[in-house]
Amino acid sequence: MADLFGWRRIALAALVWAALCAAVLAGPAVAGQWLPGDMHSHISPPDVPPTYKHATNNLEGAIAAARASGLKWLVVTPHAMDQNDEKTGRLWAVEMNERLAKREAKADDPLVVLGWECTAEWPGHITVSFCDLATVVKLPVGKMLEKIRGQGGLAIVAHPYDLPNLFDRNNRSWRPWTEPQRGGQEFAPWLSGLEIRHPMSPASQATERWDQWIGREQRRVIGVGSTDDHVGVLYRTTWVWIEGDLTRDKLREALKGGRVVVGGEASAGTLAVTIDRHDSAGKAVSAGPGEALDARDHANISWIGSEGRLFIDGKLQADARSPVEFKFDQGTFHWVRLEVGTRSYANPVYLNLPVEKTPPLRPEEKKPPVGTPTSAQPAVVPAASKH
Ligand SMILES: [Zn+2]
Ligand SMILES: [Zn+2]
Repeated sequence: MADLFGWRRIALAALVWAALCAAVLAGPAVAGQWLPGDMHSHISPPDVPPTYKHATNNLEGAIAAARASGLKWLVVTPHAMDQNDEKTGRLWAVEMNERLAKREAKADDPLVVLGWECTAEWPGHITVSFCDLATVVKLPVGKMLEKIRGQGGLAIVAHPYDLPNLFDRNNRSWRPWTEPQRGGQEFAPWLSGLEIRHPMSPASQATERWDQWIGREQRRVIGVGSTDDHVGVLYRTTWVWIEGDLTRDKLREALKGGRVVVGGEASAGTLAVTIDRHDSAGKAVSAGPGEALDARDHANISWIGSEGRLFIDGKLQADARSPVEFKFDQGTFHWVRLEVGTRSYANPVYLNLPVEKTPPLRPEEKKPPVGTPTSAQPAVVPAASKH
């Protein structure tokens, strides 16, 4: 009997243990996760009239390519959204919206957002998303940026350092940075951010500019990644922190809030900054990429892994190992970001970030100097021009 009792007790203990394990495995609802996607790719149609052969994928093909690469979301940015369909005469921004709305989504489809690559040779290319495209695509660049901002959309500098090279003589860089004597600096406060990672634009130059930009304007400037696909393959380039189910609004808010990691993996997203204040539950107040903290005069910076390169206020902290104690003058503004090799770039955590103001003046439509090949008006590039 004693043995039997013993067995029963063991069996009961096993049952309790199994129940406990199940409870732990089921766990609480997942608080959040880094979801991979991409901010910039092309589809034909509409790219670009009159042949519509600029990109390998059409809308359906792009969605399938995104699914095949494990992307959970996708912003498609055709050049030609400001053009009219030759057959129907309809604006492609309207036509594509309707095609996407009519499309029957499959269960494992990524979330698709229709954007636009504003392809002005001067000041440079801008990816536009999360706004009413039909109302912005025909505007000159300055007015367009003002309207996008008013609508809560995103305007991001594309391939900022895609300069002429041995294989391609075209200059597709952001001219206000690469040819500052030509002007265009007034656009900067109206832009949301820049592409850190693009196949033809070096990340090292983009991150350097990113830090300068944040230092100058003391605001959240968003770094994103782009496949800029023309050949039919999409890559994970941009990771957003999403709590619960992914929706269009959550994606927009995560991007606008800089809750973003750029690169093939999200490992830099382990960056955390903790300050010596406690929340109502007694937990130390902590923030991740994109978030802002009001701190007195010091913070604790940590991350997971030994490869992280820490940047504070744009300066590499050579050989820094997690955790790092950061001391600063009381209440001063700082930003902290992490790179992991060339694989992962976290958007900054901000300390004492000033309240963001609307820029005082609409960016002017300054004429570029004499000798400049194009006007300041957006103009769709010919089919031969990639990106
Ligand atoms: Zn481009
Ligand atoms: Zn492009």
